[in-house]
Amino acid sequence: MSTIDSLPPLRDVIRTHDLQARKSMGQNFLLDLNLTAKIARQAGDLTQCDVLEIGPGPGGLTRGLLSEGARHVLAIEKDVRCLPALAEIAATYPDRLTILEGDALEIDPLAHLSPPIRVAANLPYNIGTELLVRWLTPKEWPPFWQSLTLMFQREVAERIVARPGSKTYGRLALLAQWRADARIVLQLPPEAFTPPPKVSSSVVHLTALPEPRYPADAAVLSHVVATAFNQRRKMLRSALKGVAPDIEDRLLAAGLKPTDRAEQVPLEGFCALARAIAAP
Ligand code: SAM
Repeated sequence: MSTIDSLPPLRDVIRTHDLQARKSMGQNFLLDLNLTAKIARQAGDLTQCDVLEIGPGPGGLTRGLLSEGARHVLAIEKDVRCLPALAEIAATYPDRLTILEGDALEIDPLAHLSPPIRVAANLPYNIGTELLVRWLTPKEWPPFWQSLTLMFQREVAERIVARPGSKTYGRLALLAQWRADARIVLQLPPEAFTPPPKVSSSVVHLTALPEPRYPADAAVLSHVVATAFNQRRKMLRSALKGVAPDIEDRLLAAGLKPTDRAEQVPLEGFCALARAIAAP
């Protein structure tokens, strides 16, 4: 696929529609269509998929997703100033782009999407983590999405893919890796964006597993992990003493040492502990 469309260059689009980036909207635009096509390719074969995009802005990634062959793109944008530019893209790709104006935290996109569904976005940094956590914690698994291909500030991306023993290992890594494969697929310097942000960015690709990597009750696991990492440097027996009166026994039953610290415990260990705590 990979045909760059016949629309004007994004710099002209921004000038024509007067789309000065606004910090309050988390706006750092990607204007290089080769780069947006490359990001779209990280989402895999889109030809049989509907794609949910949050925050299309002037439409650089939207154009990448469409030129890479997405069956249909549903784009949710809060900034009304971007809508005319997005309408031009919709006219170039008849019946393949739907634009919803509004706040992605408020809108339920599912009525507008048909499976299989993939998510791809250069997320506004102020709601990126919240959206990711929502996508990772649906009421039922598997979720509505097959994969998430998301731009984050590098520090957030590193927290998603972190391994035990690293400084960035914590709740987000465990949440992501319990039910998905997560890897960083692209690194972008600040200059890739207009205006350049202060920090580097990374694209993370997450693929939903058909079922959790290890069995555990989602609510118990989430509570145990949150409590353990609230005091990440304490030994588990003291960090978790409020979770169960016989926490030392439960830790031992899970094959963990009461003197371990949260940041050393792998996902498998937390799942075993969640099962031991949920046991009668
Ligand atoms: N996708 C474009 C690109 O890559 O150039 C723009 C990315 S920019 C980092 C984030 C976009 O999200 C902006 O267009 C901004 O207006 C939009 N946005 C911010 N908050 C939003 C929200 N709550 N719901 C939907 N879109 C939002």
